[in-house]
Amino acid sequence: MDDAGDETPAEREPGDESTAAPVTEFSLVPFELVTEETRATILDTLASYQAENPREPSVGFKRLCETAGIEDSGNFNYHLNKLQPSYVRRTEHGYALTNAGTALVGTLRAGVGVEMTRGPKTLDATCSICDTELSARYEDAIVSVSCENGHDYPRDFLPPKAVTGRTLEEAISIQKRRTLHDCELVRTGVCPACFDDVERRHTVLDVSQASHVLVATCEGCGRVSGAPLGMYLLREPPVVAFYHDHGVDVTETPLWELELVIAEPTVCSEDPLRLSLSIQRDGERLTLIVNTHARLLDSERACVTS
Ligand SMILES: [Zn+2]
Ligand SMILES: [Zn+2]
Repeated sequence: MDDAGDETPAEREPGDESTAAPVTEFSLVPFELVTEETRATILDTLASYQAENPREPSVGFKRLCETAGIEDSGNFNYHLNKLQPSYVRRTEHGYALTNAGTALVGTLRAGVGVEMTRGPKTLDATCSICDTELSARYEDAIVSVSCENGHDYPRDFLPPKAVTGRTLEEAISIQKRRTLHDCELVRTGVCPACFDDVERRHTVLDVSQASHVLVATCEGCGRVSGAPLGMYLLREPPVVAFYHDHGVDVTETPLWELELVIAEPTVCSEDPLRLSLSIQRDGERLTLIVNTHARLLDSERACVTS
């Protein structure tokens, strides 16, 4: 049966479609444009100049050539032309990065391909499932937090730059914000990496808590992600308000202290499948009714008498 709550991401009105050619083929052009030292230097120089002069980020040819430390202006001009119009734009004051150029430099400066390992480090925190110590580790560009019994708190990709010069605790905080942002996109059917559609699949794992997981596979880049249903609900207004009213700031609190992340759902209807998650604080219970795509359909707060 059609589940009105499990909408697909493709409910678009006629005329919504872009008029540009669809981006369907994996292209080597973006790589070819920058796999040359002079071009990389130009992008780097323009980014640094933009950081120092955000109001007027354009650099004249001569100054750009000098700042980049390149003497052969003919060769320099050739490479500068190659970067246009994708990554560099020409303005009346000179040359500046396009938005795509800024995004590319950001990706490269975040440390793609840089090998870095940190930890494991014991955290001043315990696992909310088994009450043993939690430890954190950064390896293969993944921040992971787990206990000795193998209970994992959501692990996610984080570029090396996010960890450089920061404590593991700070990196975990950054990762959490990033993960919640990604969960929000995935829940609505959009890939946070390439912005293609994702296929969302509700899966029940053979574990005692947080067994209902929403797994998303991107049809475009192949990115696969999965998280317990409760993870996707942490930014919902009734959830934020409930925690706030009980003295908990969902934004600042680590995931292992938010019981909704490991809440075990109960089935409240089979067709369509509806699940109920409950959390309790200080004599009050919040109950959330969701569909299999972790979309919040209803919520209720009630006093609990013990
Ligand atoms: Zn544990
Ligand atoms: Zn993707």
